[in-house]
Amino acid sequence: GRWWLHHALAALAADLAGRGAPLALRRGDAGAVLPALAAETGAAAVFWNRRYDPAAIACDRAVKATLAAAGIDAHSSNAALLCEPWQAQTKTGGPYKVFTPFWRSVRAGLAPPPPSPAPARIAGFAAPPSGDALDDALEDALEEWALLPAGPDWAGGLRAAWTPGEAGARSRLAAFLDDGLAAYAAARDRPDRAGTSRLSPHLHWGEIGPRQLWHAVQARRDAGAVPDAAADSFLAELGWREFAHHLLYHFPDLATASWKRGFDAFPWRDDPAGLRAWQRGRTGYPLVDAGMRELWATGWMHNRVRMVAASFLVKHLLIDWRAGAAWFADTLVDADAANNAAGWQWVAGSGADAAPYFRIFNPVAQGEKFDPQAAYIRRWVPELAALPDRFVHRPWDAPAETCAAAGFTPGGDYPAPLVDHGLARERALAAYRDMRAG
Ligand code: FAD
Repeated sequence: GRWWLHHALAALAADLAGRGAPLALRRGDAGAVLPALAAETGAAAVFWNRRYDPAAIACDRAVKATLAAAGIDAHSSNAALLCEPWQAQTKTGGPYKVFTPFWRSVRAGLAPPPPSPAPARIAGFAAPPSGDALDDALEDALEEWALLPAGPDWAGGLRAAWTPGEAGARSRLAAFLDDGLAAYAAARDRPDRAGTSRLSPHLHWGEIGPRQLWHAVQARRDAGAVPDAAADSFLAELGWREFAHHLLYHFPDLATASWKRGFDAFPWRDDPAGLRAWQRGRTGYPLVDAGMRELWATGWMHNRVRMVAASFLVKHLLIDWRAGAAWFADTLVDADAANNAAGWQWVAGSGADAAPYFRIFNPVAQGEKFDPQAAYIRRWVPELAALPDRFVHRPWDAPAETCAAAGFTPGGDYPAPLVDHGLARERALAAYRDMRAG
């Protein structure tokens, strides 16, 4: 996240400078810093895009009150969502708790105007504000914020995978519209293909907005360039993003408490060694480990694999979903209070419109189905690469001569499974029965 922020700020500074408005960097309590900057520059009004998680809402309210007290106009507007959370209401009033009717209603009400193009010129400050630096000195100021890794530079995988900033977001979208969207409905579940847009960090950091995506996809549909099923499938994923953000707005403790309160009584296990093995991609389940290593190296994980890896933590290891969500929040470049919490609670079975707890992913079967040639696993778990496809998914079944031919030592470089799938499944179902009975 900090790595992304550094490069996103540098890109924003360059974009703004090109339009005549240098970026001023400030840090600290927004409630104090923003009004002070407004006063210093003699600003008559301050404009910003609204945010929807509880901490950000509290912060925005405080800023607005301080600006108002100083006689400065404050204008916030919506750029992050397709519609405002308070606009999507059930017929009886109140927020939706089930995705399908939510999305049907939001879609029907959507004829959002296309976003306006960025202005070619922006009037900058009459006199540059003092302090943390502008133009040439901006790089230095950013360096001083120390957002990039110090000591070992572990960001090589991030640099190879991403181009933070608005231009990076636009080119990612253009590539997806040309090469990904038409096949999206079928390819989106395949971690071995680049079948999804990978726009999530750009959306998270506000470098592109859901209304831009909506209009870009509809334009391709109207031109007959993509099948309806592909467009609808992609837009429905934006719908899940929207649903998660609306849920967090209406239920501010979504990220900290199980939405179904019954899960407060779930018998989670305290298992630091299991948690560490999962974080490091050493559970002995190849698809789970591939995902956790992709996350560590690139800051991103394919959605299908997020579901399988999260399910493994919550159901095979019985570790509290909040421990998994915290690791994701630390390591994802798209870490998002709403999507992360909703994703984890969906997997754990504790969320609104979640998968039922008793549906337990088999991590081996998931790999065989969605990574049939094991190309994704081979990429991230090179210890298994020389095994034949079917044994990459289940190395413990490989006969001795196969292992020898592949130069693979069972239980050597690559760990044996942390838990047996069948036993773990029974244990999870028993824990769920205990919770329901308790
Ligand atoms: P695409 O398939 O191209 O989808 C387009 C956009 O739709 C995404 O960029 C994203 O904004 C949205 N989207 C897609 N799937 C989902 C979904 N299931 N829920 C909500 N929005 C979705 N997404 C995050 O952005 N941040 C997170 O912190 C996050 N944590 C997750 C944790 C778990 C346990 C799970 C199961 C899912 C999580 N997701 C999260 C959702 C999803 O995995 C990612 O949004 C998706 O993998 C991003 O890749 P993409 O941009 O290529 O997606």
